[in-house]
Amino acid sequence: MRPVPLVLALSLVALPAPAVDPPASYEQMAVDLLREYLQVDTTNPPGNELKAARFYKEILDREGIPSEIDEFAPGRANLLATLKGSATRRALILANHMDVVPADASRWTMPPFSGAVKEGLIYGRGAQDMKSEGILQLVTIIRARREGLALDRDVYFLATADEEVDFAGALRALSPAGWRERLGRAEYFITEGGENVIGDDGKPQYFGIDTAEKGPFWLRLTTSGTPGHGSRPLADSALNRLVRALERVRQHKTEMKVLPVVERFFRDQAATMEGPRAEWYRDLRKALLDPEAAQALYEDREASALLRNTISITVVRAGYKTNVIPGSAEAELDVRLLPGEDPQAFLAELRGVIDDPQVQIAPIGTFRNPNESPTDTELFRIIERTIRRHYPGVPVTTKMLSGATESVLIRPFGTVSYGFTPLLATSEEVATAHGDDERVREDTMRRSVAVFYDVVSDLCRHRN
Ligand SMILES: [Zn+2]
Repeated sequence: MRPVPLVLALSLVALPAPAVDPPASYEQMAVDLLREYLQVDTTNPPGNELKAARFYKEILDREGIPSEIDEFAPGRANLLATLKGSATRRALILANHMDVVPADASRWTMPPFSGAVKEGLIYGRGAQDMKSEGILQLVTIIRARREGLALDRDVYFLATADEEVDFAGALRALSPAGWRERLGRAEYFITEGGENVIGDDGKPQYFGIDTAEKGPFWLRLTTSGTPGHGSRPLADSALNRLVRALERVRQHKTEMKVLPVVERFFRDQAATMEGPRAEWYRDLRKALLDPEAAQALYEDREASALLRNTISITVVRAGYKTNVIPGSAEAELDVRLLPGEDPQAFLAELRGVIDDPQVQIAPIGTFRNPNESPTDTELFRIIERTIRRHYPGVPVTTKMLSGATESVLIRPFGTVSYGFTPLLATSEEVATAHGDDERVREDTMRRSVAVFYDVVSDLCRHRN
């Protein structure tokens, strides 16, 4: 402890000491606020995120944290709250989306918008994706504000609409009509993603930080041909052509490639494994040269998705009556490209595979180039250090998400973006995101409060 100058010491005596809450009270706050927040129905469509923005704003107002709501379409809104820093360093954005995917209540054991707690689990649509993380971010800025944390950078709390459908909220927030002026200059962005797995032994296996993600490149195939009576087959009918094209797509093996982020993830995993697989994971490039290893990795659903561009045939539409040969047919492919891939080159590859000029192939919707952030950053090192302190011996690794998050929109601004959460989950619990009985462990929610706060305060606190 450094000696306090006399004048300052006197002025401190004159001021009431800042009330500092015990850390445990923030844990209780996080659990209580999450349960309340899960009751705000933001099913998208239609979204109604304005309700969630108001929920946040009421709390932020109470805490004296300035915030603004931008209702950019009826009922659709973003919220931005700001903790001001000295601006000697560029800002940090804590981002969370407020919308959730629909829930079929008849398939749930608990009502999806109840925030009910049973056997240490908090239930509700959004418990994983991603209202839990939104609350961790909120409690972090509340604590920073209450404790009078002096900041070198502005900390933004950004809650967005429509992540689950069209990114309309994030696109608006990053547009000139939104908050681009402020957000576009940030150094760091933390949002959903990452993967922290609890193993079969109940212990955390690793913390995975999402530094890269694949890009959805959805495609529609259409064919047309002569319609006719089903009693007299037409060899080159629209549907026969489509079936043949789809079979070629199904058989097509895309090339396996090793990106640095994926290489590190596998290498870190190898440390906890045994047998030939550990050998492969330690040196993926070498493994891919061995036909047996390459085949096994190709057939491993999880590993495969990290190593190559993937294609899932997801929609087929044709015909309306058993005895009528339809005159047209269409199918949709969910293609996911690795970061750095050229969509036009992939399209050309697929046209070559299908090898039928009568099958039209066209992209659906907007394609956003998949991107990644470096790991050699202060934020990455702080996350590693913090996890090591709170969970000694548990490895921290990188993870490439096979889905897409709002990171893809912010990285082009020169902002380092990570999918990071300290929340732990079993693979069964992870699968409840977008599934039935979505839930998060109360104990991980509590324990994550300090972890998240430590990361943010280490990154942003004032340094002499
Ligand atoms: Zn999400």
